[in-house]
Amino acid sequence: MKRILACDDSEFVEKMIKRELESSFDVVIFENGLEAYEHLKEDPNFDFAIIDGEMPKMSGWELIKKIKGELKLHDLPVIMLTATDEDFFKNEAFDLGAFDYLKKPFKTGELQEYIKTFFKSEGFREGKALVVEDSAAQNKTICHQLKEKSIWPIGVYSGEEAVEKLVEGADIDVILMDIHLPKASGIDVARALKKDERFSYIPIIGITSASGSEAVEIMREAFEAGIDDFLTKPYNMVEFHARVKANINRSKLIKRLKEESELDFLTRLYNRRTLFKFLEHLVAMAKRNKENLSFVILDLDKFKNINDTYGHQTGDEVLKNTANLIKSGVRKADVVGRFGGEEFCIVMQQTNIKNACVVAEKIRQTVENNEIEIGGKKIDITVSLGVSELSENEGINSLIKKADTALYKAKETGRNRSVAYKDSKFLSCQTK
Ligand code: GH3
Ligand code: MG
Ligand code: MG
Ligand code: MG
Repeated sequence: MKRILACDDSEFVEKMIKRELESSFDVVIFENGLEAYEHLKEDPNFDFAIIDGEMPKMSGWELIKKIKGELKLHDLPVIMLTATDEDFFKNEAFDLGAFDYLKKPFKTGELQEYIKTFFKSEGFREGKALVVEDSAAQNKTICHQLKEKSIWPIGVYSGEEAVEKLVEGADIDVILMDIHLPKASGIDVARALKKDERFSYIPIIGITSASGSEAVEIMREAFEAGIDDFLTKPYNMVEFHARVKANINRSKLIKRLKEESELDFLTRLYNRRTLFKFLEHLVAMAKRNKENLSFVILDLDKFKNINDTYGHQTGDEVLKNTANLIKSGVRKADVVGRFGGEEFCIVMQQTNIKNACVVAEKIRQTVENNEIEIGGKKIDITVSLGVSELSENEGINSLIKKADTALYKAKETGRNRSVAYKDSKFLSCQTK
């Protein structure tokens, strides 16, 4: 059953929402924005949200802003309930990322019908588009046109805002870029995005209202900058949708290929090549910002025995299982990769060796206490870990070598251990 979050301080509206939705959906109702937000932080798995504007403690606008600003909540479709028809409040909600508003009180069946239709069209299954257009009216029109074609729009007004959204991690399939933007032009923004490895694969469709030789000149410059496709205003909706859709498809294909080349096929962690790419970037950043960076190597103990006893296929399952345990034991910002056969590693930004030790030890215990059951057979495994920290005037190789030295010590002193190595000294990560 779809889960719906509703948030309204009026008891009357609360009753109305319950009456409308409880028979078809799993509805959780909150009295104010703060209560809803606190809950969402712990339990973000909702399919839809209905949020009132004026509420005590935290208003609906404030709540939408928070939802749209957080990666794990960003995709939650939100509609706003308004008591007035005033454009100001509606626009404010749109600007913040709500995709629609409903005027209350609603007629019997209206809210239920609305949400059922939303789910029937599977929301915005076609993909996500970033609309970069400085005119508020045009921006809204384009967003509306996209919504009608089941494409999720995120509207921004400048190139800077567009980059901000992308850096935040918004998973964008296509960018619709107005060529005439007030500060950096759409062509400048496109040029910058195409140079940035993180975003260069996202197709950009330029939009211009220029015509004749002016349009030809703009297109020439835009294609040179890396813009992938063009729409000239006024365009018809068939062409609009066809171009957007074609670019979304291309984007999804590239994303899949990119994933295949960056991830290890067995564990879906980063492969060795990608890991080194990240390491280079993260080490350079840590040095520039004078921040800590720690590195952990993890190696399965006596893994050869597992293969010999249960077969290679079971060995593979054990590797997958361990990869998942590691992944769920670290923060989102940490980079986890498969270093080689049965060796994994974790790069932790802004983390000193002491805290890295705590993480290593936690993972060691998790693996030790975890019982894997494959084909009815219970398999116990343990891991050894080596921890190091980046010091000044040091490169990637030395960072890895120190962790490796620590790992060797952990193996030598009995396995199922985590050991750190710093200033030519070994430190046990074990707390007792
Ligand atoms: P130690 O505690 O000293 O690390 O002992 P170990 O047996 O784990 O170490 P060793 O390096 O002798 O053996 C590693 C084994 O890992 C040998 C190899 O067959 C196995 N291995 C490496 N990659 C894979 C893989 O992708 N799948 C499976 N099933 N086994 C793998
Ligand atoms: Mg403009
Ligand atoms: Mg090994
Ligand atoms: Mg091993």
